[in-house]
Amino acid sequence: MGDKPLKKIAILGSTGSIGVNALDVIENLPMCRVWGLSAQRNVELLKAQVRRFQPKVVVVSDGAAADQLRRWTGSRFPKTKIWTGAAGLERLAGQKDVDLLLSSVVGAVGLLPLLAALKAGKKVALANKEALIIAGDLLMATARKYGAKILPVDSEHSAIFQCLTPLGACQACRTGLTSALKIKRIILTASGGAFYRRKGSLDRVSVAEALAHPTWKMGQKITIDCATLTNKGLEAIEAHHLFGVPMENIQIVIHPQSIVHSLVEFEDGAMLAQLSHPDMRLPIQYALTYPERLPSSVRPLELEEIQKLEFYRPDFRRFPSLKLALKAGGLGGTWPAVFNGANEIAVRLFLQEKISFLGVSRLVAQVMKAYSNKAHRQNGAIGLDGILAADRWARQMAEELSS
Ligand code: MG
Repeated sequence: MGDKPLKKIAILGSTGSIGVNALDVIENLPMCRVWGLSAQRNVELLKAQVRRFQPKVVVVSDGAAADQLRRWTGSRFPKTKIWTGAAGLERLAGQKDVDLLLSSVVGAVGLLPLLAALKAGKKVALANKEALIIAGDLLMATARKYGAKILPVDSEHSAIFQCLTPLGACQACRTGLTSALKIKRIILTASGGAFYRRKGSLDRVSVAEALAHPTWKMGQKITIDCATLTNKGLEAIEAHHLFGVPMENIQIVIHPQSIVHSLVEFEDGAMLAQLSHPDMRLPIQYALTYPERLPSSVRPLELEEIQKLEFYRPDFRRFPSLKLALKAGGLGGTWPAVFNGANEIAVRLFLQEKISFLGVSRLVAQVMKAYSNKAHRQNGAIGLDGILAADRWARQMAEELSS
């Protein structure tokens, strides 16, 4: 690797689950350097990361966190610059010195920095699915226009990307060539989340129970989205944008072992899949080293240890959020932004024990119903302002309906 140029990486959301895994991966990749980090307010972990990787720039959410960090970096790391807020994130994302941006913030907050990175023609390893869900058409068009590349980090999308890569899908993602690849169907696998095997009503399940994911260790928001199966609906929308496959050709199957990370079926009936233990370090590393494959610290898969791989049809009646997400994706326009905004609020209210588990999908359904009655709803192609307005409207409506 010695003669290759260093790859300078900025991570948005470095103290979250993906960020922490990514830093472990980067430490073992000799050609990668950490150029920038950002976190909301976990200053203690951020300090440890600064000490370990000595980035040029660190972005924190507010002035208080910045002051706290500055007092600490002052004499220790005087060259580390500290920026703040949304403007700081966008500035970091679009920096000319950054070769690759890993966006692993949670929620719609990742949209503007992502746009800035795409406009700067960067490679973006994308874990922040919400940005793509609310503004997929706009983001993919921006990537094409500026020659930027989006590399999926979400394990299912990485699996599909890996299945398509030998076929030239690297270009397909940017130029809409996927139809030439004759993809008949994308099959997204879902672990089923915390409650798939549970009998009886889900109304009284606790936050702690919902946070106990059977196969993946992840952040709180996505773990709740897995328990409601919302995550899989969001991922269908994500796959639709990344691979240019119509929503109706994306199928979801429950696969409790989380070994087959997703599949692609081609016109002739052949199916390709990617298998590995559930470990985010693998898709993260592939996005960072693509198109190369390098050794990793992921535990090798021994099939006879697994013995059994099961696949089931999801229960849409018991997990109504999944159906709502797919509906929003099928309608397109501002609907996915409305679904996502309402869901982000509903998940927060559930985590704060202000609404019940079933209350999450109920609240999202109420917001979508209100949106279908809204006079100046927008369908079809819409710009950034329309998306942000729909996102704001949905959040406000979710707050109002729940208070
Ligand atoms: Mg996923």
